[in-house]
Amino acid sequence: MDIIINSLYSDKDVFLRELVSNAADACDKKRFLAITENKSKQGSADNLEIRIQADKEQKKLIIEDSGVGMTKDELINNLGRIAQSGTKQFAEMLKKNKGDSAANLIGQFGVGFYSGFLVANKMTVISKGLNDEQGRSYRWESEAGSSYTISEVEGESGIEGNSGTRIELTLREDADEYLDDMKIKALVQRYSEFINFPIKVFTTKT
Ligand code: ADP
Ligand code: MG
Repeated sequence: MDIIINSLYSDKDVFLRELVSNAADACDKKRFLAITENKSKQGSADNLEIRIQADKEQKKLIIEDSGVGMTKDELINNLGRIAQSGTKQFAEMLKKNKGDSAANLIGQFGVGFYSGFLVANKMTVISKGLNDEQGRSYRWESEAGSSYTISEVEGESGIEGNSGTRIELTLREDADEYLDDMKIKALVQRYSEFINFPIKVFTTKT
């Protein structure tokens, strides 16, 4: 993971595009299910949106969506897998393709989610999966990107409605520019041209 982080350092802005596009994919999936599945089972797909919040005091950037979310198994399979399989392959490709832009390689290798570690030393994912019959939320957390913990959230998870995901990036010291709402808004504008859901940017505690 260190190799990836260092090789991509100059392109670190791309993390926001990757996380916003995952959020939009999750909203797309929920909207699709609401159309095709039994409505009462899948719940409503109203209020699909993406919220980006910078907490300057805690130095956290939070990206939230009201999409399909992930169950415990989905968190393990969708997020845990990448660190084990993709990383080594990816590092080898980087060595071979020196001329290729790192951002392109990220796309090819599906380390999209892990690009959060370009700017964060800890990624925390709180998610409530549409497929969890009991409506439970789980917290997935990883510090270096190579190992993770997962636990059920006791009490209120802060995920409203029947599903959704909140990704909290605890920013590296050299990445506090991403707490600046002007910077975030500029990136969102650049990357959000093809996103069909509202993206709201908030800043707390200046
Ligand atoms: P890709 O988007 O190419 O599949 P990523 O590394 O970006 O690869 O994401 C891995 C997987 O994690 C996604 O395919 C999806 O299943 C899951 N995922 C990531 N972010 C979210 C999210 N905000 N909501 C629901 N699932 C997500
Ligand atoms: Mg992705």
